Parts: sequence; C-alpha cells; structure tokens
Amino acid sequence: MALSGDVCDHIRAVGEVKGPKRRECEECVKIGSAWMHLRTCQECGVTLCCDNSPNRHATKHAHASGHAVIASAEPGERWLYCYPDDAFAEY
Ligand SMILES: [Zn+2]
Ligand SMILES: [Zn+2]
Ligand SMILES: [Zn+2]
Repeated sequence: MALSGDVCDHIRAVGEVKGPKRRECEECVKIGSAWMHLRTCQECGVTLCCDNSPNRHATKHAHASGHAVIASAEPGERWLYCYPDDAFAEY
C-alpha cells in the first residue's frame, strides 16, 4: 500500500485496509438514528458514523476502545485517520 500524507506508525501498521461489511453505522441502526458518513475501524472492523453525524460513534468507539486508526467507508474515498496522532494519509 502506497501512502501519502502525515503517516504515523499506527497507519503504517495497517496492512490490508478493512472496508465496511455493510454500509450502515452499526450503533445508529440499533437506536434508529441517522448518520452522515461512515468510517471503518482498522483494528476490529466495526463500521460507525463520522463526526458530522449526531452520535459521532466512530470517535466514541476510538476513545472507548483505544483503537487508533479509521478508514473512510464512503465509496471513492481512500484515506486513513489516526486519532492519537491526528494523522491523515491517503492510499
Ligand atoms: Zn498514529
Ligand atoms: Zn452512528
Ligand atoms: Zn475498533
């Protein structure tokens, strides 16, 4: 995987980028809420909603679990983001 951007060790450690199993926020579906965009955790593979969504489930998951890196799960977007380092890389 060729990376460009502000690459940290967490992002470097991502081998094959995990994509969404389903295009929906697993937590919003449970509570019947809406979301804007989707992100997939690169540690456990869960797909959750972005910070523009009312529930910000991806960020909450990262803080609660310590999982560092998410990927955009939006079609056509190819980027990774690391929470602890605030690093952003395209692939
Ligand atoms: Zn990092
Ligand atoms: Zn959500
Ligand atoms: Zn996770």
